[in-house]
Amino acid sequence: MSIDVYNPATEEVIGSVPETADVGPAVAAARAALGPWSALSRADRAAHLAALRDLLAAHADELAALITAEMGAPLTVARKVQVGLPIAVLSSMVDLLSGDLPEERIGNSVIVRDPVGVVAAITPWNYPLHQTVAKLAPALAAGNTVVHKPSEVAPLSALRLRDLVREAGLPDGVYNLVTGYGDPTGAALAGHPGVDLVSFTGSTGAGRTVAALAAKHLTRVSLELGGKSANVILPDADLAAAVKVGVGNCFLNSGQTCTAWTRLLVHESQHDEVVALAVAAASRYTVGDPTDPATRLGPLASAAQRDRVLSYVSRGLADGAKLALGNGSVPDVGYYVAPVVFADVDPASAIAQEEIFGPVLSIIRYRDEDDAVRIANGTPYGLAGSVWSGSQEHALAVARRLRTGQVDVNGGSFNPLAPFGGIGDSGYGRELGVHGYEEFTSVKAIQL
Ligand code: NAD
Repeated sequence: MSIDVYNPATEEVIGSVPETADVGPAVAAARAALGPWSALSRADRAAHLAALRDLLAAHADELAALITAEMGAPLTVARKVQVGLPIAVLSSMVDLLSGDLPEERIGNSVIVRDPVGVVAAITPWNYPLHQTVAKLAPALAAGNTVVHKPSEVAPLSALRLRDLVREAGLPDGVYNLVTGYGDPTGAALAGHPGVDLVSFTGSTGAGRTVAALAAKHLTRVSLELGGKSANVILPDADLAAAVKVGVGNCFLNSGQTCTAWTRLLVHESQHDEVVALAVAAASRYTVGDPTDPATRLGPLASAAQRDRVLSYVSRGLADGAKLALGNGSVPDVGYYVAPVVFADVDPASAIAQEEIFGPVLSIIRYRDEDDAVRIANGTPYGLAGSVWSGSQEHALAVARRLRTGQVDVNGGSFNPLAPFGGIGDSGYGRELGVHGYEEFTSVKAIQL
């Protein structure tokens, strides 16, 4: 049995992957490779990761084109983010292993970090290579071995990654790929007794299932799940900058980004002005062929995702939100959705509470700062967020009140070394940087 992979811009089949019937051999291969890999010196593991990083860099254009073909990200985004980030993440782990990594001392104890063992990495389709490398690089750096199940929607970049891992000379069994649907292949991996840690990125519903399956063997789990992040614009902010950056953040990767600021919170006195700015900014997001450099919004990754987003647009209208921009024309072929901006959105309504995962921005009024914080914290999620103010100190004070894993103040840029992850329905555990590395370790205290 095999699974067809579609180009979402052309709706054509561009490849297929096997449906793995039994994940056992991959888990066994990872187990067999664990001892020798974890026994390597940090310098040797760093050299392997550097070799892989260099191969990714050498093949960056090819990988970007493949990711664009399998999930529709505009080529410019694919090159810069989808491939650029994994290269940066591999570099960060090479640096970490090459640096000091001093062992902690507490009184008469030395605190040692051992590898956890065999890691099952289950990843989504929206940043297929990045989500994989965000697990693979720290897991391997810490001495673990990995069995990876990519999304059935966009698995082709993982096949290419497997070739590059081999070409980089990593030992057999250190990285193992299984392809298939979430259920049964992903579920078999999550519930496998030979797996020591499941690192999952995907939807909240699947994350719950994975955690329940892993619980049977008390397997450790880390979950990077969905989000409904708020962009809080305080009244003294530079409105033009806050809206421009906010719309860009919401629409990055055609709105298929877990950290997207999909709720724009504005003081009621500035609502109409901000709606006009948002409509102007959103209108500049040209929809079209993702391989065209002028395109800013490619198709969504699948027909199911397009239909889901369109159903939320209908839901927003039914719930009384005002459509400030939307229903624009899109190419006849391909899973496209033109930019949508809703104004006067009720913070309790579905489009303000649930993850849509498309180019849909909801603008919400607040009365005062406490109201803004209450609304920002008023969803089950807590992944990212943003605060804008003329006073950095003031924005920082509000940022501290947000219940979320990350907050950007006045457009503070993405930091690939900062801990990344969420709370509540956005999951638990952290990726990237030293926190991401530690996620793949087990703490041992040795008393002297
Ligand atoms: P998804 O949950 O449908 O699938 C993610 C992965 O889990 C896929 O490989 C899938 O096959 C597998 N899966 C599904 N059901 C499973 C099950 N029962 N057991 C084991 N594995 C299973 O998510 P998606 O649609 O591929 O990706 C979009 C979602 O991912 C969004 O909710 C988005 O917010 C989230 N996401 C989160 C982050 C983060 O870091 N927090 C990053 C990217 C995407």
